[in-house]
This record gives sequence, C-alpha cells and structure tokens, in this order.
Amino acid sequence: MILPFAESFRIKMVEPIHKSTREDREKWIKEARYNLFNLKSEQVFVDLLTDSGTGAMSDRQWSEMMLGDESYAGASSYYKLKNAIRQIVGFEYFLPTHQGRAAENVLFSVLVKSGDIVPGNSHFDTTKGHIEFRHAHAVDCTIDEAFDTTAYHPFKGNVDLNKLEDVLKENGEKVPFIIVTITNNTAGGQPVDMVNLKQVKALAEKYGKPVIFDSARFAENAYFIKKRNPDYADKTIKEIVLEMFSYADAMTMSSKKDAIVNMGGFIAMRDKNLFQQASVYNIMFEGFVTYGGMSGRDMNALAAGLDEGTEFSTLETRVEQVAYLGKRLVEYGVPVQEPFGGHAIFVDATRFFPHIPKEQYLAQTLTVETYLEGGVRGVEIGTILADRDPITHLDRFPKLELMRLAIPRRTYTNNHIEYVAATLANVFERRHQIKTGFKIVYEAPILRHFTVELERI
Ligand SMILES: *Cc1c(COP(=O)(O)O)cnc(C)c1O
Repeated sequence: MILPFAESFRIKMVEPIHKSTREDREKWIKEARYNLFNLKSEQVFVDLLTDSGTGAMSDRQWSEMMLGDESYAGASSYYKLKNAIRQIVGFEYFLPTHQGRAAENVLFSVLVKSGDIVPGNSHFDTTKGHIEFRHAHAVDCTIDEAFDTTAYHPFKGNVDLNKLEDVLKENGEKVPFIIVTITNNTAGGQPVDMVNLKQVKALAEKYGKPVIFDSARFAENAYFIKKRNPDYADKTIKEIVLEMFSYADAMTMSSKKDAIVNMGGFIAMRDKNLFQQASVYNIMFEGFVTYGGMSGRDMNALAAGLDEGTEFSTLETRVEQVAYLGKRLVEYGVPVQEPFGGHAIFVDATRFFPHIPKEQYLAQTLTVETYLEGGVRGVEIGTILADRDPITHLDRFPKLELMRLAIPRRTYTNNHIEYVAATLANVFERRHQIKTGFKIVYEAPILRHFTVELERI
C-alpha cells in the first residue's frame, strides 16, 4: 500500500478555538457590517482569512527568540539575519522593515515617482496601493491563462513577455523597474516558472530596467518549480531559490508568509547605491538600518524561519495540505481555481452564483455565507479588493471574482480541512436560495476592503 501523506511535524503546544451557533454568527456578522475583518477572532472557528503572520513557529524559532540581541545598533541578531539572507536568497545588502508593505514604502520612495508605469504580474494590493499612492500606474502583464479558473497551466503566475515588451517599447522611459510577484498571490497563489523569470530578466536587461521580486511566497514558488519543471526535479529547494533570485536586482519580502514569523519584512538588493538611498527612508519610516521596525528576537526567529521555510519537508506538508482542501472541494462540486495555489484555495464566486449580478459583490456574498454556515472566515479577492478606478471612480470589476481560503502554516489539522470543505459543500447545496448580494454603505478611498461597510440588498 502507498503510505498516505502525513505532516512532518508534531504538536507541542495547543491553542483553543471557539465554536458558535448560526444565531450567534447572524448577529456578529451584522454587527461587523458584513465585513469579516471586523469580526473578533473568538467569533471565528476556523480562520482562513490569511496565511500572513498566522503560522506556528517551531521550537527552534522560539528558542531563537530567547537569544535576541536588542542593541539599538549592530545587534548580533541583525548579523544573523544578514547571513541568512545572503545564504538563502543571495543578496549582499538588506534592510529590515516591520512588514512587506513597509518594504514597498521604503523602496518605492526611492524608485517610484508621479506618472511612472510599473509593469508586473498581478500586483498585490499593497504593492498597487503604494504605486497608485505615488500617482503612478501598475500595468498587469500576467498571462491570459491565469484568468480562466478552469484552464490547466502549470505556471499560471507567469509574466506574458509580449505584454511586458509592449509596455517597455511604448512607455519605456516611464518604467522605473519590473516587479514579479512570486508566487502570484492575486492570480490565485500561482507559481512563476524559472524559465519565465530568466526571460523577464533578459527582457529587462535589453531595456536597461531592474527587476524586483515581490517575494512573500518565494519558497512555495520554488516548491512548484521542483514539482512541475522536470529540469529542477533533482535540485534542492535552496538551490532553486538561489537561482530564482539570481534573476532579480532587488526584492521586497513579507516575512509573515514563507519565513513563518508573526511580524516582519525586509528589502534586499545587490546595488550599494540603492541600499544607501533606501537606508535614508528606512531610518525615517522604520528605524535604524540594523533593526528597522523589528526587534532583535524577531530577526533571530526570521533567520531560522528562512532556513526552515526553504526545507522540502516544510513545503511539502504545507502545499499538500492546501491541495487536500482543493481536492475535497472538487469532490463536492464546488468551483475552485485549478491548479491549486500554494497558500490558498480560491473559490470561483462567478461560477458559484451565476444568478446574482456582479454589481452585488459575489465573492463577498460567498464569504459571508461561508461564515454563517460554519464559522469559517475566508476573504474576498474580487471587486471590493480591486478598489475604484482612480480616474473614473467606478468599481473595477476584476477578471476573477474569488473567495480565498488561505491556510496558515503548521496551524490546522486535516480534520479542520474536512470541516471547511463540508461547510462549503453545504453553502453550494443551497446556493440557489441565495438570490441577492450586498451594497456598500461606507468605503475608504484606498484599500477599501479592510474597512468597507455593507448592507444586504
Ligand atoms: C502579504 C504580501 C505583501 C504585503 O506584505 P505585508 O507583510 O502584509 O505588509 C506584499 N506582496 C505580497 C505578494 C504579499 O503576499
């Protein structure tokens, strides 16, 4: 018999979570103005809002916390992290920041100015926010296959080289850099192939542009390259990671994802001049260059997390658990994006609710119904997240209207996964009874999804 898949960790510490009744949840979600970010964590049973900062640190990471050096300048923790970054991603210079968007803020303060155009593969919302906040534009050059949730493509996160070259040809002088998000979060946690990274770098060199990787889930990307590109089947994750970053000039990192810490981020680069310019903003916005928004103990845990997060066994446990949820949902007939992403399963709300108009926020409707059904919290990756067009102020309807179920690393068991799948199956069964969605009654001008308030139609 082939032995079934099993996790490569065991549990040393547990944290209680809370069950509730449907009546409780009806009341709580109404009080939360149908925005799941407004729920209290104890009002949620299985929390799949995000895999960001929600993972479980290892015994090794917790012991590193005790060794943290909290010196203002020159802490040993800084050098420990510097070494880990040099070894794992291969960059000489780095700046710690409190999380990924802070890394974007610091780096873009140097690189992005009004009127610029930043091409990339489905920019993450904070990345786009930091570009548009500077009155610059993000141009999505993801391959078309990414926008068909039923099409199979092993690397749906890839950059479309023709689309990218068109931008460089037409508006080259306005492009400060190309940004490649690995994995492509917004397109469904889809990986980018090594071949594509290499081709993007070659094209960038032709036009004299630097390439920046938005790297939150770089290790999952490496896992998919190993699994799906036969040329890399025999390479270790660490070898693949080093080659990936050899095609970048700089990176921004949210350490709350693949580095499995609860808070933290960094910028890393090859160019000393860029490092010096970014240091000015880092000192202003984050903190002195040897801690920049992180405590020493957190830098220690991050250094260990970068090492563990790029181990095959860690990634296999994680990515296979995500795929397990995907398989169960497919068995129940729930429409999901395939192939499954690395950190999350994306349920296609357009196929789920073909009878509700898209102006009524389909993915948000699905997210509310999923919470009501089982106390499971997912997140809308659709029209609300896409914000309004900065010029016309109309809703931007994205190509995909999805509910994301993001799985925290090393946190839930496969029984929780079974529970989540059954919750979705029940909503799917009664989908025709759900006839209307929501309207917005309050929204912020940028990144509105965090604070939006809604009413049932
Ligand atoms: C999470 C994330 C960010 C932002 O990082 P934070 O740590 O949440 O500020 C940027 N890009 C991608 C691809 C991400 O997943």
